[in-house]
Amino acid sequence: MKIIMLGAPGAGKGTQAKQIADKYKIPHISTGDIFRANIKNGTELGKKAKEYMDQGALVPDELTCDLVMDRIKQDDCKNGFVLDGFPRTIPQAEALDAALTKIGEKMEFAIDVDVPDENIVNRMGGRRACLNCGATYHIVSIPTKKEGICDRCGSEVVLRDDDKPETVQKRLNVYHEQTQPLIDYYKKQGILKSVDGTKPMEDVFTAIVQILEA
Ligand code: AMP
Repeated sequence: MKIIMLGAPGAGKGTQAKQIADKYKIPHISTGDIFRANIKNGTELGKKAKEYMDQGALVPDELTCDLVMDRIKQDDCKNGFVLDGFPRTIPQAEALDAALTKIGEKMEFAIDVDVPDENIVNRMGGRRACLNCGATYHIVSIPTKKEGICDRCGSEVVLRDDDKPETVQKRLNVYHEQTQPLIDYYKKQGILKSVDGTKPMEDVFTAIVQILEA
């Protein structure tokens, strides 16, 4: 099962991607998480990526594509994978298609988690993330059991720099300009499915499972 999660930042695609990965026992590949891990570990890639991320801009394709292509070639991806936050530009989608074509494979599902911009801005202000293990929460809809502390690893949860209101608007603009064209790209390939991301999380997940198992 090879799945791409599409949707604006904050649409909830990460939460859904994690649940899909758990249910179908396939790796969850989040480029945002990979960059954040690199930032935390102080790698060269992390240093370069941070400059773009802090401004709400996209990390250049040349830093992003190879990373994902190397990851999907690994053994645990043999039965599929769920991509979260990649591709984010048409050239990234083309690079992914080219890499898969080379090994006689192709993507099977592109699932767009659709949420209007107004809802996104409200949601992101309440989002909290654990910079240690990558878990994400929301102060209203997915609170931590103990305020400010990650349920999974006990570290502090924070409002990520790139979730701050001024950066969110920038990220939404970037999404509309560079990522939204992917909806047409995958529609043309006949693999695009949309779900209403304003519904409760469990309902969104049920809708996705129905698509994957139809
Ligand atoms: P995310 O956690 O998916 O919202 O990603 C956080 C930030 O990481 C984005 O705002 C971008 O700066 C960067 N990023 C993540 N994935 C990509 C990608 N596929 N291409 C370019 N930049 C990315």
